[in-house]
Amino acid sequence: MSMRIGLFGGTFDPVHNGHISIVRSFLKSGYIDKLWILLTPVPPHKLNKEHVSYDHRKEMLRLAFQDVEHVSISTIEQTLPKPSYMVQTVTHLAQKYPEDEFSLCIGEDSMAQFHTWKDYRKLLEHCQLLVAERPDTDHSEVGSEIMEKVQFIPHDPVEASSTEIRELLNSGNDPQLLLPDRVYSYIKEHKLYQ
Ligand code: ATP
Repeated sequence: MSMRIGLFGGTFDPVHNGHISIVRSFLKSGYIDKLWILLTPVPPHKLNKEHVSYDHRKEMLRLAFQDVEHVSISTIEQTLPKPSYMVQTVTHLAQKYPEDEFSLCIGEDSMAQFHTWKDYRKLLEHCQLLVAERPDTDHSEVGSEIMEKVQFIPHDPVEASSTEIRELLNSGNDPQLLLPDRVYSYIKEHKLYQ
């Protein structure tokens, strides 16, 4: 049976409450049956900027989403050539799962940058764009070839970023409110980002 699969990519270094909340919004939208989280080893825009190992990031994702139905963690990008361009990943998945329909799940701020992604036109041949609304995002520059592939979904943003969490930990402050409990405990137990 054909499935509608949402793809949500990132370095998740570490995963935080903002990620969980946006994933829930994508699932609630009714446009996808399940969501795959693509854990990226080396994203093109963050070369040499990995802070903790792939396995630690994978384990934190597993802990963060273990109670969220219809979510799986995909490590496919670890097996593909680096850097992990989304066009490469999605072309690979579309060939591997020809029955299924893929949607790229992104925030409205990422949509405003989408025209800078490698081979974005080719990418749009394989997938729709599900875009979580973010108030006050300027996307006046986004071309019609992108906009016609976009489906907006409602979302109440949760302010958090992995950068902020790393900085808090690095300076001896406590990011507990920005993280799922199990991820917070894992970071403490393994003394990550210190
Ligand atoms: P960093 O601070 O290291 O750049 P990040 O917090 O943006 O990290 P990523 O792993 O780069 O996290 O993000 C994965 C995806 O999650 C991206 O599409 C990003 O736009 C989105 N995202 C990040 N933070 C939030 C948030 N608070 N709410 C919704 N989406 C978010």
